[in-house]
Amino acid sequence: MKKFDPATELNKLEQFGEFGGVNPSITDSATYTFLGADTMVGTFHGETEGCFLYSRHWNPSNKFLSDALAAMEGTESAWVTASGMAAITSTILQLCNSGDHIVSSVTTYGGTYAFLKNYLPKFNIDVTFVIPTDLESIRKAVKPNTKLIYTETISNPLLQISDIPEMSKIAKSVGAKLVVDNTFSPMIVSPYKLGADIVVYSMTKFINGKNDLVAGAICSKQDFINSLIDVNKGTAMLLGPVLDPLRSSGILKNLYTLHIRMKQHSKNAMYIAERFKADGINVIYPGLSEHRGHNLLKTMMNEEFGFGGMIAIDMETKEKANHFMEKMQEKGVGYLAVSLGYFRTLFSNSGSSTSSEVPEDVQKDMGMSPGLVRFSMGLDNDIERTYNIIKECF
Ligand SMILES: *Cc1c(COP(=O)(O)O)cnc(C)c1O
Repeated sequence: MKKFDPATELNKLEQFGEFGGVNPSITDSATYTFLGADTMVGTFHGETEGCFLYSRHWNPSNKFLSDALAAMEGTESAWVTASGMAAITSTILQLCNSGDHIVSSVTTYGGTYAFLKNYLPKFNIDVTFVIPTDLESIRKAVKPNTKLIYTETISNPLLQISDIPEMSKIAKSVGAKLVVDNTFSPMIVSPYKLGADIVVYSMTKFINGKNDLVAGAICSKQDFINSLIDVNKGTAMLLGPVLDPLRSSGILKNLYTLHIRMKQHSKNAMYIAERFKADGINVIYPGLSEHRGHNLLKTMMNEEFGFGGMIAIDMETKEKANHFMEKMQEKGVGYLAVSLGYFRTLFSNSGSSTSSEVPEDVQKDMGMSPGLVRFSMGLDNDIERTYNIIKECF
């Protein structure tokens, strides 16, 4: 059997603008007319195919992008949000009621960690944090009231790999849903195909790839997406974090070059990781055979897209890390900035930036060095030249 190929699934879609435009027309309306009053009532109850009611619920531009994302993930449906955090928080709040329990990886994105740790207690939702690579601790942590297990395919910033098929089994054993943030590895891993129930994205990163907007997505079964946008009880419909259709149409066009970009990000990251390794630098990259998750990732990945564009190196102290990064920026390696998935290389010191919501003692427990420098490798054409410049910055 041929493995799932997200890029080809995307290419099978045919979406046209209303006047035959090769790109779908951009929605410029908040509300939609109905020829018959009965159709409006049906649409309100989510019963009319192909009709739009109001842009916070659905609009044509968001539907085109959602359909493309669903094709890429192999899910029945998807819904796009105004940020990655909106996708994550809407999903969690839709699945959990007061008194419920969540098992979450402790090494999630800082905003996700802060939401789980600091925000959910006000709804009396309890969270047990686990090391995502320790399946035994996840088995021990689940309870009868566990509603979801939350993890990232490739974690930030330590690049640990989650065993999605095994986590899916644990979730099923207690009737919980497995929610996977696949922001670091679009196309590389297809979590839904491996047993995840819901896949969430920050499209701000690789999917859009231009660092010109903030957006997110939720990919899942039709009934979950319908529940999210239910006019009476849906979290997404009622909290309203809808993506602007103008932004949607931009992301849709960028989605069609994602497979080429992922291959190039991965190729560059692999080159740099191998050279660093040969130089005796302490480098973390899942493409290296000594990385603890290397073999696991190989069993899960759609191999042609590589091991991803993220690398971390340990500079031991924050001072050394800062000096190194400032020098790299000066010499034009890329930018000292948070975020990832950009065409230029971005680097930051994780402890004091994207993971600063995670308390220092927890960072230590996670094995996160204060001198960790995270790279999101760009699309550089001459990566050997980039490597030579980085070497001058140590
Ligand atoms: C950036 C990021 C988020 C948050 O997404 P926004 O678009 O900034 O709201 C969530 N998860 C991961 C893994 C991220 O990198």
